[in-house]
Amino acid sequence: MTHVPFPETATPSDLVGRVLGLNPGLMTGPGTNTYLVGRRDPILIDTGAGVPGYLPLLERYLGQRGWARPARVLLTHRHPDHIGGVAQLRARFPGLPVAKMIYRDTGLPSPIDDLRDGQVVTGDGVTLVPVYTPGHASDHLCYYLVEEKALFSGDVVLGGSTTVIPSGDGDLADYLASLRRLRGLDIRRIYPAHGPVIEDGPGRIDEYLAHRMLRERQILEVLGDGTATIPAIVARVYRDVAPALHHAAGMSVEAHLRKLAREGRVRERPERDAPSRWELLA
Ligand SMILES: [Zn+2]
Repeated sequence: MTHVPFPETATPSDLVGRVLGLNPGLMTGPGTNTYLVGRRDPILIDTGAGVPGYLPLLERYLGQRGWARPARVLLTHRHPDHIGGVAQLRARFPGLPVAKMIYRDTGLPSPIDDLRDGQVVTGDGVTLVPVYTPGHASDHLCYYLVEEKALFSGDVVLGGSTTVIPSGDGDLADYLASLRRLRGLDIRRIYPAHGPVIEDGPGRIDEYLAHRMLRERQILEVLGDGTATIPAIVARVYRDVAPALHHAAGMSVEAHLRKLAREGRVRERPERDAPSRWELLA
């Protein structure tokens, strides 16, 4: 596969501009996408991680479009690579309003306005509908752009890989329910928080659902063979995945096991000073 460098800025449609957060990494791909939405006075969706190079890049792009500043900021969720740029933006654009769904949050940069599922936000020529989509994070909102039948998917659907379900705040059953809810919307394009635009939104959501179901079957299968710990399950089910990603894979396996345990299909047996053993229930 040839490697095409990911552009730092882009204008994927008349209503949508994209500025890269410049925070590339194992979990962020090329970095976090931030989107400017509207014909004028754009709404900024997500702020990147707060790296110093982001603000000059954003200002250059704003200048190219003839814009002075973002009108307001909407956040998809509280993870630092989405919210980390808020302080930097507020220092440069005093009084910039910022909104997210406030849920189980501590230590947010204040003030932040609370935003709820279905509470429509309008900009210049754009209508954004927040869609509550927990699973990757318990406070996650996607934003549906009515004029394009497009979705800003945050970390629920990504351009290049599958989504991590972190232990603790993540929940695989919620995540699958969120994907099914999104599948029920009239979506064409998806603008993900990481990676390139997804033209076939419904197709990608179906792939995500199928992928999770496949992993669940594989996990049940190796449990049936007596493979009992998360590291051992990862070693078998994620054989073809680079070892650098095995930590993330372990989180994914754990998310599956916790979901299966709640469904009464597996049981955890904690061990002293060793990973828990998991077993199938008849
Ligand atoms: Zn995230």
